[in-house]
Amino acid sequence: MRIDLHTHSAVSDGTDTPTGLVASAIEAGLDVMALTDHDTFDGVSEAKRAASGTGLRVVAGVEMSTQRRRRSVHLLGYGCDPADAQLLAELGFIRAGRTARVPQMLSKLAGLGMPLDLHEVRSAAGSAPSVGRPHIADAMVARGYVGGRDEAFERWLYDGGPAYVDRYSTRLEDAIELLHDAGGAAVLAHPWSRGGRAVLPEHYLAQLVRRHGLDGLEADHPDHDEATSAQLRALAGRLGVLATGSSDHHGTGKTRNPLGARTTSEEAFDALLSLIAQRGGRA
Ligand code: AMP
Ligand code: ZN
Ligand code: FE
Ligand code: FE
Repeated sequence: MRIDLHTHSAVSDGTDTPTGLVASAIEAGLDVMALTDHDTFDGVSEAKRAASGTGLRVVAGVEMSTQRRRRSVHLLGYGCDPADAQLLAELGFIRAGRTARVPQMLSKLAGLGMPLDLHEVRSAAGSAPSVGRPHIADAMVARGYVGGRDEAFERWLYDGGPAYVDRYSTRLEDAIELLHDAGGAAVLAHPWSRGGRAVLPEHYLAQLVRRHGLDGLEADHPDHDEATSAQLRALAGRLGVLATGSSDHHGTGKTRNPLGARTTSEEAFDALLSLIAQRGGRA
């Protein structure tokens, strides 16, 4: 079984429609694919429709933008009720905050000699329900300011970078509770990527498990080297939580993340399904 529990469609900042993503997943030989768009469930029903009658199982997911001490942390939710009013309201706040700071980022870029109009960024975002840095990056590429999304992030848009503006995100502990209350399981996405070790040290992860019922760690991820993945798998074992693996596929938006680049074991997936059932959710 090939199980990939973290993918994005154009409903957030991937480049494939949910239907196109499902076709790519089948082509890549996946048996299970979770759609985990940033802060929205909008693509899930289309993906499920596209997969029905095929050998692919689509799991409903979301990747929530959260923070610990104002540092960004991504949290995956699986099996949540996509109509849960509290969760939907919070996701709405996050999306609004993400989009609201785009004009300030464009002012910074203009000051750096790279003027862009808001409509160029909007058209890069297509029908996505919120507009963020990946779409600014795409507009920068279209203007020829940078060669690709990666370069835009590495030079200008990274957290704290010259064109960066902070945005609202949910407190991590509160986000775990919201996902649980919506019947879902909560798994930390790429916990030790990009300086994550300092934001999420081991003793704090232990506390999240003990006090807040965190359900798992995404140990295998293209942003973790083999040693880091092994450390996270071992830590998940010690803490008694799931260790998952996934590609974090973004279509052509990120080049190091082809579908199935990392996968989740069948045992971990079965344990995830049991957890979701216990919490009253549906995968
Ligand atoms: P925002 O939500 O507007 O703050 O933008 C953050 C999003 O940009 C993340 O969720 C990633 O999907 C994406 N991202 C972050 N770093 C990179 C990168 N180096 N290359 C491409 N996309 C990135
Ligand atoms: Zn993304
Ligand atoms: Fe992420
Ligand atoms: Fe992601």
